[in-house]
Amino acid sequence: MGPTRAEVLEKELGISTFHDLLFYFPYKHIDRTHLFYIHELTADMPFVQVLGEILSFEEEGKGRKRRLIAHFTDGRSIMDLVWFQSSSFRWIKKNYLIGKKYIVFGRPGIFNQRINIPHPDIDPADTLQVDAIGLQPYYNTTDKMKKAGMNSHSIERFTTTLIAKVFPSDGTNYIGETLPDHLIQRLMLVSRGQSLHDLHYPGSAEALRRATYRQKFEELFFIQLSLLRYTRLRQQKVHGYVFSTVGTYFNTFYSNYLPFQLTGAQQRVIREMWNDMRSGRQMNRLLQGDVGSGKTLVALLLMLIAIGNDYQTCLMAPTEILAEQHYATFRELLKDMPVRVELLTGNVKGKKRRGPILEGTLTGEVQILIGTHAVLEDTVEFRRLGLVIIDEQHRFGVAQRARLWKKSETPPHVLVMTATPIPRTLAMTLYGDLDVSVIDEMPPGRKPIETRHFWTEKPEALYHSIRREVQKGRQVYVVYPLIKESEKADMQDLENGYAQLCGIFPDLHISKVHGKMKAAEKDAEMERFVSGETQILVATTVIEVGVNVPNASVMVIQNAERFGLAQLHQLRGRVGRGAEQSYCILVTKYELAKETRQRIDIMCETNDGFEIAEADLKLRGPGDLEGTQQSGVAFDLHIANLARDGQLVQLARDMANDILDADPDQNRPENALMWAHLRELNKKQIDWSSIS
Ligand code: ADP
Ligand code: MG
Repeated sequence: MGPTRAEVLEKELGISTFHDLLFYFPYKHIDRTHLFYIHELTADMPFVQVLGEILSFEEEGKGRKRRLIAHFTDGRSIMDLVWFQSSSFRWIKKNYLIGKKYIVFGRPGIFNQRINIPHPDIDPADTLQVDAIGLQPYYNTTDKMKKAGMNSHSIERFTTTLIAKVFPSDGTNYIGETLPDHLIQRLMLVSRGQSLHDLHYPGSAEALRRATYRQKFEELFFIQLSLLRYTRLRQQKVHGYVFSTVGTYFNTFYSNYLPFQLTGAQQRVIREMWNDMRSGRQMNRLLQGDVGSGKTLVALLLMLIAIGNDYQTCLMAPTEILAEQHYATFRELLKDMPVRVELLTGNVKGKKRRGPILEGTLTGEVQILIGTHAVLEDTVEFRRLGLVIIDEQHRFGVAQRARLWKKSETPPHVLVMTATPIPRTLAMTLYGDLDVSVIDEMPPGRKPIETRHFWTEKPEALYHSIRREVQKGRQVYVVYPLIKESEKADMQDLENGYAQLCGIFPDLHISKVHGKMKAAEKDAEMERFVSGETQILVATTVIEVGVNVPNASVMVIQNAERFGLAQLHQLRGRVGRGAEQSYCILVTKYELAKETRQRIDIMCETNDGFEIAEADLKLRGPGDLEGTQQSGVAFDLHIANLARDGQLVQLARDMANDILDADPDQNRPENALMWAHLRELNKKQIDWSSIS
C-alpha cells in the first residue's frame, strides 16, 4: 500500500507490520457461497446475495424520508434496492447500469409487504467469483479510514496479499508453534499457522470455529501461565514478616472498644488474613465486600495486629475526602488507646509534613499512617512497614503494588479492599496472583435499599420524596456527574441544581461539595453534612467511595444515564447504612438508549453487587485492554473476551497449573517452545524478577 494509507492504518489501528495485520482479525464472516432467489428471501435472514438486473430507478419521499429505489429482478420476481443518502443518488444512478447483470449483497428487510435490501453491496456478476469468496471476512474500520477511502474491503485486499505471502504455495511454514504438542493433542487444537490462516479465510464455518477457539485459548493461556508462574515464584522466594501474636493493641481494642459485634463474615476474613500474616509467607490478598459490609473495621483490626507485632502499617485511600474520613474514624475509635495515627495527603505540607509525619514515619513513632497516593512517594520512608492496606482501589495492579514493596527489604503484607465485586473470570485475570476473601454478609438490621427511576421532565415527584424524608429527620445526597473536573458544562449542571434546590427548599440547609473546591472549604461543607447541620448535600462523584453518613437515607443521582453500573452501585451504597428504609432515585431524561435503559432496570431490580458486576461485564465488556493492563500482564487480547469466554479462562488456568506442576523448573524440552514464547511476551512487559 502507498505511504498515505500506511500512515492511516498505523494511526487508526496501530497496524504497521505484517504481524500486526495478521493479528487484526475480522469481526465477522459472511457466507458468500450461496445465491438466493428473491422468492426465498424473508426479512429475518442475515446477509444474502442475489444475481439479477436493475429494471428501473425511482425516487420517493420528501425531506429526510427521501430515498432512491432500484427495482431489481432475478428473472422470476422483483424486489427493491434502497438508498437513503440523497448525496449518493447521482453516483448510484450513473454507476449501476440498467440491464447489466449484478450480484447484490445485503441484509433483507420488508417494507409495504415488499422485500428490499437497503444499501446493498453491488458487484458486476462477470467479475465476482462467488465460489472463490467463500466466507468473506469483515474488518472494523474507523471513520477517519473511511474518509481516506479505506473500508473493510480494502483491508480484505491487504490480508489476501498477506496470507498469500505468509502461507506460500510451496508449503514453507513461517508461523511457528507456541504451544507444546501434548497440550495441542490433549485439547485437540488446530496448529497456530492453521488458526491464523483460518481466522481470516476459513474454508468452512467449522474451520472458523476451531481457529477462533485455538486463538482464544492461546491468549488466555499465556496470561494464566504468566500469572501462575509468577505467583509460584513469589511463594517460593519471598518471605513475609511473621506476626506471631495478635498482640495487646488488638486484644485491648477487641475487649473494650469494639463498637459492635463483628459479623460472622468479618470474623472469618480476619481469621483468613491473620493466618496469612503469621504463616511466614507474604500476604497478598484481595478483600471483596459490597458497599457497607464493614471493611473499614476489618482493616483497623488487622492494623492493630501489625502494630501489636511492632510493625508500622499504612492505609491508602483513593481520595482525600476518604483518607480524611478514615483518619477521623480511626482517631475516634482509638481515642482511648496509645496509638499514634497520622494523616498524609497532598494537602499536608511544609513543617507538619516534614516534622511529625515524615520524621515520625522514619523513626517508627507513627504506627498507623493513613493517606492518599502521597504515601507512595519516595520521600515517605518507614522504619518497619509490615502491612499495607489499599482501600477501594481495585485498579491497583501488580506494578503499583510492586512500588510499595520497594519500601522495605522484606515486602510488607498487602491487602487490597474493594467494594466493586469482580466476577470470577475477571478476578482470575486481574488478580491471578492474589488470594481472595469475601465478606458476604451485611451488618444486621440493614433494610435493602429501594431503587426508583424518576424523570428529569417531572421534578415534582423528586422534590416530594426529598421533602418527605427530610421531614422524617433524614438527610439526602444529590449527585451530579462530573466526569472531568474541568468540564464547564457539568459544573453548570451542579450549580444550577444547587440553585434550584435552594429555591424549592428555602427552609432547608444545603451543602455543596465538588473537586474544584479548596480542601479546607470542602472539609467544612462535608462536616456540616456529617454533623447533620445541613439536610441536603449536592455533590459530584467525589463522594463516590467510602463516605459514611448513616443518617442519610436518600441518594438522588441526576443524569444517571451518564454513569456506569459499577459507579451507580457504588453511589447507591452511600445510603442504607442506618436502620431506616433507604432510597436510591435515578433521575434520567425520558428518552433513553436501549443499553442505558437496561442499566437503569438492573439497578432497580437488584441490590446484589455481584449480579450487577456480571451484568456490567456483559453489557460493557471488560473495557478494551484495561483488564489485562491492570493485571500487569498487558498481553493484548485480540480475540478472547473475558466476559464471554469465562469457561475458557478456567480451562486456560487449569492447563497452566498442570503444566507448572509437571514442569516446575520450566526446563522440560517438550515445553521449550512455550517457555520461549512466554519470555518473548514478558519482555515487552514488566520485569517480574525485579519485583520479587
Ligand atoms: P465498607 O465496607 O463499604 O467500607 P464501612 O466499613 O464504611 O463499609 O461500614 C459501613 C457501616 O457499617 C459503618 O457505619 C460501620 O460503622 C458499620 N459497621 C461495620 N461493621 C459493623 C457490624 N459488625 N455491625 C454493625 N455495623 C457495622
Ligand atoms: Mg469503605
